[in-house]
Amino acid sequence: VLEARKLRHGFAGTEVLHGVSLQVWPGEVVAVTGPSGSGKSTLLHLLGGLDTPEQGEVWWAGERADTLDTQTRAQRRAGRLGLVFQHHYLLEDLNVLDNVLIPGRLSGQDDRGRAQGLIERVGLGGREGSLPGVLSGGERQRVAVARALSARPAVVLADEPTGSLDRANAELVAQLLVHLAREEQAGVLLVTHDDRIAAFADRSLHLLDGQFTGAGDEALFPAADRR
Ligand code: ATP
Ligand code: MG
Repeated sequence: VLEARKLRHGFAGTEVLHGVSLQVWPGEVVAVTGPSGSGKSTLLHLLGGLDTPEQGEVWWAGERADTLDTQTRAQRRAGRLGLVFQHHYLLEDLNVLDNVLIPGRLSGQDDRGRAQGLIERVGLGGREGSLPGVLSGGERQRVAVARALSARPAVVLADEPTGSLDRANAELVAQLLVHLAREEQAGVLLVTHDDRIAAFADRSLHLLDGQFTGAGDEALFPAADRR
């Protein structure tokens, strides 16, 4: 379970998140929607340990993450979280296969087999040796999806993963992400502006001015468990 407890965070004295709590459970897909500037990316950065909250707690699989030192946090992140961003952060001088192997610094035969399988499942079989520069935007995001899942993360955090794609590609990439994560029993937290993409989620949370609107139990529990 990925958990945020009463996160407060801001920049230059202006608070952006005003005490946000949520949980993402294995195998569930949670969408976070909300207007530009409402704090969605800030929340994702805190959950991913890319930034440290001013107040509140972040827990990864039962371990407090926000108090870990940077190096330990990066090690733990590699095995527990997969990250996908709007603008693919593929390593441009590594081919598709090596990009997918990188998150866990994987290299064994089993790892290669798994990476190969993920590349096939995102529809890029045969492109293992291609450099990212020759791929289309949609293909690059599909590599990013395979990479996010390669180290068997408990949760994938995705910030507008389809934001730079046209409609057809956006739906394809979102569907792949959701489908593969379900197969892998990974949770997904999917930040999106797009209602059609949010519709792939099991539940949707709406962030407005740094707080979930109507936040209560729906931020914490899988849809099926809510009474
Ligand atoms: P969008 O939908 O446009 O991506 P968002 O909901 O992701 O918006 P955030 O990026 O979290 O919004 O930004 C929330 C607020 O925090 C904005 O007012 C933004 O200007 C501010 N902010 C975010 N990151 C920083 C930063 N590194 N330094 C200063 N201000 C920041
Ligand atoms: Mg954002």
